[in-house]
Amino acid sequence: MSDWKPIIGLEIHAELLTQSKMFSACPVVDSVEAAPNTAVDPVSLGLPGTLPVINQQAIEFGLMVGLALHCDIPPVNQFARKNYFYPDLPKGYQISQYERPLAVNGWLDIEVTPENGDAYTKRIRIRRAHLEEDTGKLTHIGGGSSLVDYNRAGVPLLEIVTEPDINSAAEAEAFARTLRAILVYLGVNNGDMSKGVLRVEPNISVMHKDDTEFRTRTEIKNLNSIRNLYRATLVEIDRQIKLWTSGDSVKQATLGWDEARQRVVIQRYKERADEYRYFPEPDLPIVEISREWVEAVRARLPELPDAKRQRFIETFGLSDYDARQLVAEQAIAHYYEAVLAAGANPKSAANWILGGLFTLMNEQGAEREAIEHTHISAAQFAELVKLVDAGTLNKGTAQTVLAEMWATGSDPAQIVAAKGLAQVSDESAIREAITTVLADNARMVQDYLSGKDKLFGALMGQVMKAMGGKANAQVVTELLRQQLDARR
Ligand code: ADP
Ligand code: MG
Repeated sequence: MSDWKPIIGLEIHAELLTQSKMFSACPVVDSVEAAPNTAVDPVSLGLPGTLPVINQQAIEFGLMVGLALHCDIPPVNQFARKNYFYPDLPKGYQISQYERPLAVNGWLDIEVTPENGDAYTKRIRIRRAHLEEDTGKLTHIGGGSSLVDYNRAGVPLLEIVTEPDINSAAEAEAFARTLRAILVYLGVNNGDMSKGVLRVEPNISVMHKDDTEFRTRTEIKNLNSIRNLYRATLVEIDRQIKLWTSGDSVKQATLGWDEARQRVVIQRYKERADEYRYFPEPDLPIVEISREWVEAVRARLPELPDAKRQRFIETFGLSDYDARQLVAEQAIAHYYEAVLAAGANPKSAANWILGGLFTLMNEQGAEREAIEHTHISAAQFAELVKLVDAGTLNKGTAQTVLAEMWATGSDPAQIVAAKGLAQVSDESAIREAITTVLADNARMVQDYLSGKDKLFGALMGQVMKAMGGKANAQVVTELLRQQLDARR
């Protein structure tokens, strides 16, 4: 075992899917797609004389997340000014929450699958979640110039901070996945890290087994996927251990991630703590969160991934593993339930989504969410599952039909008819194919009969090939064994 233990706390920023900004009626737009500075107003530009108004929907969304993360919701919220100068922050301060945040002291259970070792669950404590406004976006164009887009300025942002309870890159990844799924299920964020709508930043240090206190930490910013969060965390843990063991030291810094070179890059050293001169926002009232409001929001929470997994296991008899896979992406869980509503058997449908469909999606390089735009309606998918269950299609041809459905959106029955793919269980046709194959492969048959049992698979393959892949594999196995035994 290594003498070093990674210590990681995550800071997550999630843009909330409200219609308007945190403190004005200015619309929220896709900050990657929309033309720059087309969704701005005097408040988001921080013009003198403007006054902020709190977006109630943003508070409700924040409450939903706080409750889903098992947090306490203090009765009084207060916004505060966080003062710093940067061109993407037009007012010269960000309205955030400091001493009186929306939610505190929660937890989230994660299921961790380490690269080597068994899966385990672990509880990660949530320190707090607070509301704030996003900043604008700077694009550096070289020659000392930068462009600024204020579409994002003022977009409601929920910042979630964990305790430093995370002890490996795999745990950081599992936390990010679990939290992202919850945000998407709640409908408060679309989970898109590549667009920066969801940003997960790890604070990392390492602890020696003889240490009694934490060591200096670094923070990695601008990670655009969970994969990169995992990779960057691994690399940074390694870098810190090497520094300490070589007699050097880790300096507190903000890092970036160079994906091409798989390296962290130091963006700036933090010699002393940032001084934000927080003070209560004088232009906004204190927000009282009544217990009735909290309970009303709690009652409206949708079924979350854990509850859905439990229900899939209990109602449909799925294994924990299969249920976990199905609920990991909300879009897949919805699709699965729609396929069941169309009459498919729950276990067969689960097998065909996790097996056939996922295999196809991997081949096509399609993300799981692509299921929302697939050509294959839930009813068509259910029809395919029924054709397999009824023995009309074998596994191999069903996969061929599925690929055709994915490409064309045709009905499975149509594809089966047009391509003549229906499974052949007719014994006389299969017997005939077997006789031919055994005659053509006399040598192999001899070897099989003299003890090379493995050759059964090869002979079986030959028969399936002779039948154009459409034969019922179970019938072939049975008849082939009969005919071979007859020759002993
Ligand atoms: P700040 O007040 O500068 O924002 P915090 O102490 O609130 O810093 O911590 C910010 C994040 O860093 C939290 O997620 C916390 O769990 C994590 N963290 C704090 N100390 C360490 C450490 N030594 N190593 C790793 N993570 C840490
Ligand atoms: Mg913040």
